[in-house]
Amino acid sequence: MTNPVATTIPGGYCANGGHWREVHVRPLTGADQLFLTEECEGLLPAHWVTEALTRCVTRLGPHEPVTRETIRSLTVGDREALLLHLRRLSWGERLRCLLTCPVPQCGEKLEVELAIGDLLLPPYREVVQEHELAVGEEDGAATVVRFRLPTGSDQEAVAMVAHTDVAEAAGLLLRRCVRSTSSSDGNTLDTFPEVISQQLADQMAALDPQAEITLQLACPVCGSAFSVIFDTASYLIQELELEMRHLYREVHLLAYHYHWSATEILGMSTAKRRKFLRLLEEELTQGAAQ
Ligand SMILES: [Zn+2]
Repeated sequence: MTNPVATTIPGGYCANGGHWREVHVRPLTGADQLFLTEECEGLLPAHWVTEALTRCVTRLGPHEPVTRETIRSLTVGDREALLLHLRRLSWGERLRCLLTCPVPQCGEKLEVELAIGDLLLPPYREVVQEHELAVGEEDGAATVVRFRLPTGSDQEAVAMVAHTDVAEAAGLLLRRCVRSTSSSDGNTLDTFPEVISQQLADQMAALDPQAEITLQLACPVCGSAFSVIFDTASYLIQELELEMRHLYREVHLLAYHYHWSATEILGMSTAKRRKFLRLLEEELTQGAAQ
């Protein structure tokens, strides 16, 4: 098992009147890689994120171990931050992305390098669990919506719909997060007015900015400026699949030369496994030269 490292999340975990931002995360081991690619194959991203974080987040404030339910209860932004911390601990700070310029006449393939530190946001100032949005009408009346921020549970609940209909899933997610809607005279409204959906979505995004990472880029060939959303879960799922090509070979080499069991080798972080592999390669190269 790898050693956990203390870090922070922007929103924080709230339970029983307490609020905690400090988390302990450990880097992925080979066994985690196997589990997350082979056993979790076919999981929708929201469920996959819950599995990855339940394995690698070892402590949240004073809470240890961290349950699957706790991971689900974190906001989308906190889960995004945890994934970035997990990636940094497992494979380092730099992320390489292959993008295509969206201008049809250009379509240049762009290789962009990102630093995780540039994507992580500082702690949010506001830590309340219930928010309020008042939307005025032309006649001066206002509708007041009380809502909470979307969590991993909400993402999981709408994940299947999101797979086929993103707009429908976004609407479902919003409705799950609304606690009450009332008119300006204080009467509770049974139905959620669709007209304020966009304002509510914007307000949620502003309150949990870590939830959606937008990259502002410029194409070096045609000069066009454009923006793309960076989806950490999709990036990590793809990266883990690519890393699997090396994993079996690395475990085989170490087991063959050091006579360690596969379980021992799979319990190491990638960094530790590769340290031994470098030593082994040096030894083998020297042996071959003599
Ligand atoms: Zn271009």
